Amino acid sequence: MAMDSPNIRPSTSQASTLSGSDTVRFGFDNTYAKLPERFYARVNPTPVAEVRLVKLNVELAMSLGLDPEELKSNRGVAILAGNLVAEGAEPLAMAYAGHQFGHFVPQLGDGRANLLGEVVGRDGRRYDIQLKGSGRTPFSRGGDGRAALGPVLREYLVSEAMAALGVPTARALAAVTTGEHVLRESALPGAVMTRVAGSHLRVGSFQYFAARGDTDGVRVLADYAIRRHYPEASQAEQPYRALLAGVMERQAKLIAQWMLLGFIHGVMNTDNMSISGETIDYGPCAFLEAYDPAKVYSSIDHGGRYAYGNQARAAQWNLARLAETLLPLLAIEAGGEEAAIAVANELLTDFVPQFEAARTAGLLRKIGILTQREGDAALAEDLLQRMAANDADFTLTFRRLCDAAAGTEGDAGVRALFADPAAYDGWAAGWRRRLEEETDAGRVRAAAMRRVNPAIIPRNHLVEAALQAATQRQDFRQFEDLLDAVSRPYDDRPGLERYSVPALAEECVEHTFCGT
Ligand code: AMP
Ligand code: MG
Repeated sequence: MAMDSPNIRPSTSQASTLSGSDTVRFGFDNTYAKLPERFYARVNPTPVAEVRLVKLNVELAMSLGLDPEELKSNRGVAILAGNLVAEGAEPLAMAYAGHQFGHFVPQLGDGRANLLGEVVGRDGRRYDIQLKGSGRTPFSRGGDGRAALGPVLREYLVSEAMAALGVPTARALAAVTTGEHVLRESALPGAVMTRVAGSHLRVGSFQYFAARGDTDGVRVLADYAIRRHYPEASQAEQPYRALLAGVMERQAKLIAQWMLLGFIHGVMNTDNMSISGETIDYGPCAFLEAYDPAKVYSSIDHGGRYAYGNQARAAQWNLARLAETLLPLLAIEAGGEEAAIAVANELLTDFVPQFEAARTAGLLRKIGILTQREGDAALAEDLLQRMAANDADFTLTFRRLCDAAAGTEGDAGVRALFADPAAYDGWAAGWRRRLEEETDAGRVRAAAMRRVNPAIIPRNHLVEAALQAATQRQDFRQFEDLLDAVSRPYDDRPGLERYSVPALAEECVEHTFCGT
C-alpha cells in the first residue's frame, strides 16, 4: 500500500501554485471555469496539517493519462490534499440549489469541494477532477468544509465497486488523511478524497438559476450540458427537449441498474442527481442483504423517501423538478408555455415505462432469459416476492441461481437461502420449464448469468469493519482487501468466499450515516 508521508506544512493559509520542472502534470483543459462568474466561486483548497496518501487509484490515474508516480510524489500528494494547486488547475466551488427530502434550498453549492479542473482521458472523454473535504468555500454555510476518513473510505469503496459492477458512477482517484480532526459527534480523523466524474452538473445546478428567475443562466447551463454530455441533442429539432429526454433516458437506465444490483443510494436529493447519468454523492448508501423493497439504511431517511423500492419514483420526482427549470426554454421551442408543459409531462410519463423496460430486461437476464415472452416478467416478480417473504439474500440468491441454471444439483444452494426452501422449489419448477424453451445450453446460460449476477458486493458489515480498522487503528489492510475483492465482482476467486456471504445476525449493520 502507498504510505508516503510527505508532511508538507503550508506556510500560508492559501495553497500556492506549483510551477517549475518537477511539476505534476494533469493536462487540465477547463471548460466550466469559462462559464459566467455567477456559476461558481473561485476558491483554492485550504491546506491541511500533515498529509499522508492512503490510497491512489493507479489504474484510474493511467486511464486519465496521469502519471501515478507523479501523483505519489510529495508534490503529487500535496496537490491531492489541497496543499498545493497544480499547474493549470482553476479551483472553484460550483453553485447549485436542491430539494433536500422534498424541501427546496435555493443555495447549496460545493460547501466542501473544489473542482480543480477537467482532463480528457485516454478514452477521449472529459472528466472533472474534484477534491472533496478540501476546506470551506463561500457555499459552506455552517459547515467546516471537511470530510472524515470513514465516509471518504466508504465513498472510495462503494464507488469503485459500482464502477466494477458496470454502473455509471463518479470514481475515486485518491484518498489522503489530513493529520487534522474533524468534529462530528466526536473528533474523527480528517481526509480528502479526489473524485473523478463525467461532470458534477446536477439537477440542482439548474434549480439554482431557475430559482433566481435567471433564465439566461438556465440556458447557458443547458447549452453547456448539451455540449458536454448530449452533443447529439444539438442536432435535434428541439435541443432542450432532447436534453431533457436524454437525462431521463440515462436516469431510467441508471436506476434500473441500481435496482438490479440491490443498491440503495439513500439520499437522492435533487442536488445529488447528476445530469450526466452517473451515480454521484455517495453518503449513507448501502446494498440490500435480505430482499425487501421497503428497505432503508440511511439514519436520516425517516420516512423512507429513498427506500430501495422508491428509487424510480424519487428519480421521476427529481426529473420533474429538472423539467420545471427548463420550461422557459421548452416554451420557446414548443411555441408557448402550455405546449412546454405538455412536452415535459409527456417525457415524464414516459420515464416509468422506460425504467420498467430496463429493469424487466435486466431481471430476465438475471434469471437466464434472453428473449422476453409473455409471462416472463410475472415469473421474475414471483421470485422476488418469494425472496421477500423468505428473507432471501438478494445478491447470493441470484448468484447461486447461476449454478441452478447449469443443473438441478445447483438447487440446494439456492434453497438454503429461503426461510422456507419449498418457496424456492415451487418457483424453480416453473422456471425450468421456461428455460427449456431457451436455445442456449445450460452451461452457456450459467456463464452469461454470472456476468450480470455479482458474487461480491461491498457488504455493509465488511465496509463497516474496514472503516473501523482504518479510522480507529490506522490499519488499512481490510480496506485494501475489500477494495480488491469488490473490484472483480463477477469472478469466483478462491480464498475470497467470505466476501460473498451475508452478515450473521450479530454482524448485521442496519443503519448507515452520511457523516457530513
Ligand atoms: P451532501 O448531503 O453531502 O450531498 O451535502 C449537501 C450540501 O451540504 C452540499 O451543499 C454540501 O457541499 C454541503 N456540506 C456537506 N457537508 C459539509 C461540510 N462538512 N462543510 C460544508 N458544507 C457541507
Ligand atoms: Mg451532495
